[in-house]
Amino acid sequence: MFACDTEDLDAIRDGVRSLCSHYDTAYWRDIDERKAFPEEFVEALTEAGWLAAMIPEEYGGSGLGLAEASVILEEVNRCGGNAGTVHGQMYNMFTLLRHGSEAQKRRFLPKIAAGELRLQSMGVTEPTTGTDTTKIKTTAVRQGDKYVINGQKVWISRIQHSDLMILLARTTPLDQVQRKSEGMSIFMIDLHAAIGDGLTVQPIANMVNHETNELFFDNLEIPADSLIGEEGKGFRYILDGLNAERTLIAAECIGDGRWFIEKASDYAHNREVFGRPIGQNQGVQFPIAQAHIEVEAADLMRWRACDEYDKGLSAGASANMAKYLAAEASWKAANVCLQTHGGFGFASEYDVERKFRETRLYQVAPISTNLILSYVAEHLLELPRSF
Ligand SMILES: Cc1cc2nc3c(=O)[nH]c(=O)nc-3n(C[C@H](O)[C@H](O)[C@H](O)COP(=O)(O)OP(=O)(O)OC[C@H]3O[C@@H](n4cnc5c(N)ncnc54)[C@H](O)[C@@H]3O)c2cc1C
Repeated sequence: MFACDTEDLDAIRDGVRSLCSHYDTAYWRDIDERKAFPEEFVEALTEAGWLAAMIPEEYGGSGLGLAEASVILEEVNRCGGNAGTVHGQMYNMFTLLRHGSEAQKRRFLPKIAAGELRLQSMGVTEPTTGTDTTKIKTTAVRQGDKYVINGQKVWISRIQHSDLMILLARTTPLDQVQRKSEGMSIFMIDLHAAIGDGLTVQPIANMVNHETNELFFDNLEIPADSLIGEEGKGFRYILDGLNAERTLIAAECIGDGRWFIEKASDYAHNREVFGRPIGQNQGVQFPIAQAHIEVEAADLMRWRACDEYDKGLSAGASANMAKYLAAEASWKAANVCLQTHGGFGFASEYDVERKFRETRLYQVAPISTNLILSYVAEHLLELPRSF
């Protein structure tokens, strides 16, 4: 039996829903139209402790598992909001929790749990290397008691609303390592100290209201104790956190999918054309029913991933498949919802076009659908490696 049946999860759902009721779709629409950041919502979620769900109790958090964390993000999207504004904190913490030193955990985690510090950003993607992460060109060179960072990152989200960022940089040149996945390291960057003093941030205008940026590192100096874990093992540390990240994104997509299906069903029920509700036509109701089936099926895989992860098992296969199924299902539900609304689907006041844009992102980021297919082909089906 998966964890989804427990009363604790229902209590979390109720709590998050209650908080989200103060931030309705009009709130999110206004934020989207102004390309603003939902500061009040993020504050409220932090203050209520939801963003500290996975921080162990000894560091001031709730010590909950992935199942509980996934419900929090699912409900934000299920209520019409956008968990993409806060999800970074949930999954960036894994890296610190699993690979940070005791001193780093004591320094950062209690403040993150108390809402005094935000760890919302992770800098991995680069403009010239994209998905081929082991080729990143950003370097961190040790000089005495500091590292000096040079290079460029792209699509790095929530920088302007975060205090800290986890950065992946190459510490040993590619031609000096035996395996291309070696020689990269991760660092905790104090954004307030870095911006304007070696780090330049250039916002990217984009299709969703996702505060995302291009970063330029020009001899940024950081203290040597910013290194997380061992030098050279950063790529493995990043991969380590991905199963949790994929499962959380799957849950967000499930939340989106349910929002779209409810919205489509309501509209199909109430909109009358040719003297009857449009939902009476099988041509309208079948696609909604199909989308519902696919969201519910994806949800089963999400729970399998949560269950495995929380039992300490390798959730790689389930997490990847959950992300794939959920992103496909939410996108299909989005399309059906828009079609059901006809012309009104394009009107901002119905919120469908905003959510349609938001859920589309999850086919591309944080990992594109093709890369998941490639993982399944290579690791589960043992087909030849394609790259
Ligand atoms: C709004 C937004 C927010 C983001 N936030 C962050 C963030 O906070 N931090 C961060 O580090 N990154 C972030 N990203 C980056 C995101 O993770 C990347 O865009 C994504 O991983 C794809 O990389 P790319 O854009 O370079 O595409 P590319 O690697 O150039 O790929 C382009 C297309 O080709 C396909 N492709 C490439 N190689 C193969 C192959 N071998 N086989 C089959 N298909 C292939 C891909 O699937 C993709 O569809 C964000 C992106 C967006 C759009």
